[in-house]
Amino acid sequence: MKLDVKELKDNYLKMVIEKTSTSFLNPIRRILISELPKMAIEDVEFHLGPIRDETGKEYESVTPLFDEIIAHRLGLLPIPTDLKLFGFRDICVCKGEGCPNCTIMYTLNKKGPCTVYSKDLEPLGDAKFAIKNQNIPIVKLDEGQAILIYATAILGKGSEHAKWQTISGASIRYYPEVKIDAEICDNGGGCIDICPMNIMKRDDGKVIVGDNFEDCILCNACVEICVPRQDSAGKKAIEVNYNENHLIFSYETDESMTALDVLKESIAIFTNKLRNFSENLETALAGPLWEEIIEEEEEEEEEEEEEEVVPEEVAEEEPVEIVIKAPEPAEGEEPIPSPDEISIFPETIEGKEEESKEEAEAEPEAEPEAEPEPEPEPEEKDEPEEKVEEEEKVEEEEAVTEEAEEPEEPEEPKEAEEGEEPGESEEKDTEENAEEDA
Ligand code: SF4
Repeated sequence: MKLDVKELKDNYLKMVIEKTSTSFLNPIRRILISELPKMAIEDVEFHLGPIRDETGKEYESVTPLFDEIIAHRLGLLPIPTDLKLFGFRDICVCKGEGCPNCTIMYTLNKKGPCTVYSKDLEPLGDAKFAIKNQNIPIVKLDEGQAILIYATAILGKGSEHAKWQTISGASIRYYPEVKIDAEICDNGGGCIDICPMNIMKRDDGKVIVGDNFEDCILCNACVEICVPRQDSAGKKAIEVNYNENHLIFSYETDESMTALDVLKESIAIFTNKLRNFSENLETALAGPLWEEIIEEEEEEEEEEEEEEVVPEEVAEEEPVEIVIKAPEPAEGEEPIPSPDEISIFPETIEGKEEESKEEAEAEPEAEPEAEPEPEPEPEEKDEPEEKVEEEEKVEEEEAVTEEAEEPEEPEEPKEAEEGEEPGESEEKDTEENAEEDA
């Protein structure tokens, strides 16, 4: 690898690296963008109510912009960052409450009419934390308007929010090679006019490549507009090429840190990542191999499955057998035919109960003179015969009482049959009834 720093400023760095690849430079670029810590304003407290100046003049604490927009603009200001002095607040000794090890406090007190700039944001403490770029506008105040705020800056990463991103415009480009064949070029100058980066220029009437050819963006516009001469066998005068192992790496910062410092910090972060990776790799290789780990896990799973099977077998026990015996007959009654011992399984109990309920509901509707069933079911035998007899007696008594209550209508005398005298038919009926009663 051959590294050549082409340009170095406080906020800009450009270097040319040979015998390298984008695969090597891209991790550094990504760390510069998202992993490099930086201070930025996180919390802003706005004073509400009237504000008075030294003369006693009163101002309203209002601005043309919403407080949220002002807070957002303050968050994008480049706060000077020294990573040796500050650490992340969430892992600070203050446990996130805020202390000089993790926090910078600022105040801003301006009264209109005026334009509030970044220079008006004053640090509470060391003056070296004042904003370097002092001409960043924040808000314009009108007559009678004022702003009084207290802001807190903490450390963060670009992966959390863009306000913690230190650099911008980080790019990796192939190193261009722009050549003009003077023997073929007709010096028409079309490439000079069309080049967006002003790479070509005229020198004594001839078209040549300027010293700024590294700015070529490989757009090939000059090649497309170049018209080959008829005697060149179709070959064009301009040729643009690049080398994939010859790169230009450049970026600029927001002045919160110098361009060189951010590169050093990023390389340190990259080195720590590689060291951490190496240590973890050694630990992994010193331990059991993955195949052994997988076999152990499979054996543990099989053992767990076997343990789970045992309680299932215990749960599948045979159903409990329930034996129901016929009731003993009462004295003076005929012995009730005892049913055979009935085995009822738990799953058939409900079915039997439902059948007995249906039969019990159907019995009152059945006529007492219904034909006896040839072979009554064991459940029917269980019902006591006394109950049936009592029900029959009750029904007979009710029938008798109804007949007694109903008044007997006097029977109309039957008409005398032909050949009989009136009164003879009644005497015959009386005699017939007497015979029947006898
Ligand atoms: S490739 Fe594009 S940028 Fe490069 S010299 Fe040609 S016109 Fe200019």
